[in-house]
Amino acid sequence: MTDAEADLVILGGGSGGYAAAFRAAELGLSVTLVEKDKLGGTCLHRGCIPTKALLHAAEVADSARDGEQFGVRTTLEGVDMDGVHKYKDTVVTRLYKGLQGLAKSHKINYVEGTGTFVGGTTVEVDGTRHTGKNLVLATGSYSKTLPGLELGGRILTSEDALTLDFVPKKAVVLGGGVIGVEFASVWASFGTEVTIVEALPRLVPAEDEFASKQLERAFRRRKIGFKTGVKFTGAKQDGDGVTVSLESGETLEADVLLVAVGRGPNTAGHGYDEAGLSMDRGFVPTDERLRTNLPGVYAVGDIVPGPQLAHRGFQQGVFVAEEIAGLAPQPIDEAGIPKVTYSHPEVASVGLTEAQAKEKYGPDITTFTYDLAGNGKSQILKTSGAVKLIKAPDGPVVGLHLVGDRVGELIGEAQLIYNWEAFPEDVAPLIHAHPTQTEALGEAHLALAGKPLHVHG
Ligand SMILES: Cc1cc2nc3c(=O)[nH]c(=O)nc-3n(C[C@H](O)[C@H](O)[C@H](O)COP(=O)(O)OP(=O)(O)OC[C@H]3O[C@@H](n4cnc5c(N)ncnc54)[C@H](O)[C@@H]3O)c2cc1C
Repeated sequence: MTDAEADLVILGGGSGGYAAAFRAAELGLSVTLVEKDKLGGTCLHRGCIPTKALLHAAEVADSARDGEQFGVRTTLEGVDMDGVHKYKDTVVTRLYKGLQGLAKSHKINYVEGTGTFVGGTTVEVDGTRHTGKNLVLATGSYSKTLPGLELGGRILTSEDALTLDFVPKKAVVLGGGVIGVEFASVWASFGTEVTIVEALPRLVPAEDEFASKQLERAFRRRKIGFKTGVKFTGAKQDGDGVTVSLESGETLEADVLLVAVGRGPNTAGHGYDEAGLSMDRGFVPTDERLRTNLPGVYAVGDIVPGPQLAHRGFQQGVFVAEEIAGLAPQPIDEAGIPKVTYSHPEVASVGLTEAQAKEKYGPDITTFTYDLAGNGKSQILKTSGAVKLIKAPDGPVVGLHLVGDRVGELIGEAQLIYNWEAFPEDVAPLIHAHPTQTEALGEAHLALAGKPLHVHG
């Protein structure tokens, strides 16, 4: 059977796929969206949203434990994981309903089922063929593991960790990237003794070294253990626990091992190879207009090499819809995509790291670091951290890096500064409300513009 031809067929209804669908529908295109599980994909159901709900519950636990610091008598009686899951699931369900409503109001032809790319711009679902004038592949990603490390039982993926119905006494987290660090932070707040094992020399290794140092200092204070530059060699589990072995000969005992070593592209078994799609280690390379090697076939989201972030998927989805509608959108500058790690403290950045800026502009870049010790609101919140700016020689600010509780919210301004190629002198006259943490960004730009206000030394 063949469905009527749509302007656009989309395989996968996660962040990338549904953003393409909604924008295309807004532009008057007819859209068929194929999804085998739930509209919203990883981010809504197993990623961004549920993890941030856990992180918020963790913050509440910390506030209860630390009330005394603010003169408020509170104690943390305990964490009821049933209650935490109920809260988390309520948030997800509400957003899921909203998203389903949007799909309906955009009049998307929503096809439930597993799709196979059968060549051209056609996807087959349960024997029915859906052909588009264009096809967007948006099948997302899955939790990877390491060779010889079998998942299951006490050896968890992030999906398993999200539904764990108890607070582990001891946990080992394999991988010190965003997902590993966020779960380590949640569990430590809930009372777990956590050790992170990272093969690279530092936590959050994709960030500027400054951010890794700040985060490591904060984690030391929180008594979150971490071993960096150490390779994992194996794990064994039984009824009592899991034993993790490291290349150094050391072993770690825990109740659970979270494997957070990255996410692989979900591109196998969907007919991609057979249809002649070019792939590179499972990822789907595209040009800057998100075109694959096949005519009329685009790819968006986690299957495209680059930062695996929901808002990158949204933007790519919107881009492809506008491209197909003939609006000739501006290609996306991947360095302009903001990144946030929502641990306690948070790490947020946009633009280049110092190392990348030196590579691009040479040694004459300027950097300035503003310590949150000088920021009133951060002192009120009792958070420490800093804002680091990187400026091109005689040029704009090309990197902004922030560490501290709640600094994820400051990335909105930081990304405008980067993406609008602002000079410190452009930002310096802009007034930041007092007392807010946004002042830290303002102060750092004032200092780089040669007129520091609350800067020591
Ligand atoms: C624990 C965790 C926390 C995260 N936190 C954040 C965060 O805070 N901020 C952030 O920006 N990003 C975060 N991410 C990353 C974010 O979730 C992904 O970047 C985003 O979901 C990618 O969108 P996508 O559309 O490429 O893929 P997905 O969201 O994975 O969607 C792909 C969809 O395709 C469907 N599908 C696959 N194959 C088929 C098929 N053959 N037929 C039909 N349907 C199919 C799947 O069911 C799925 O719904 C997190 C991820 C994880 C795992």
